[in-house]
Amino acid sequence: MSNHFGSAMTASHGHCVYCKRFLLADFDTFWASHEDHLYTRKHIKGANEKIVMACGVCNNLRGDYLPEAWESMPENELIDAIAEFIAQRRKAKEQDEYASWAVEKTEWAGNPSDSSDALVAEHGATKP
Ligand SMILES: [Zn+2]
Repeated sequence: MSNHFGSAMTASHGHCVYCKRFLLADFDTFWASHEDHLYTRKHIKGANEKIVMACGVCNNLRGDYLPEAWESMPENELIDAIAEFIAQRRKAKEQDEYASWAVEKTEWAGNPSDSSDALVAEHGATKP
């Protein structure tokens, strides 16, 4: 655990700064949480490095996003703007990509495939 991780976790009291999810709720959530560069690496200029805590979902959905006016925004407004971007992107992904698995979600829930042939075929490999 890096110092950045510990400081950022303490600063947010263990919550994702974007969606407010509690990152210490269970091990999986904790382990999927990230230290996020508020000012992304491509924009960073030494002094304004700022690490915040983000859940894995927000970290992934954010990518490198920064709003146009990021340089003139106070930190709390910047976090709100990024959170809004993440929320919109999340909604679009839920309605598009996740929703497209609705039938499988119902049919496959609690029913893992027991066909190793099928699992191998998916990846284009052949069995020895
Ligand atoms: Zn989050």
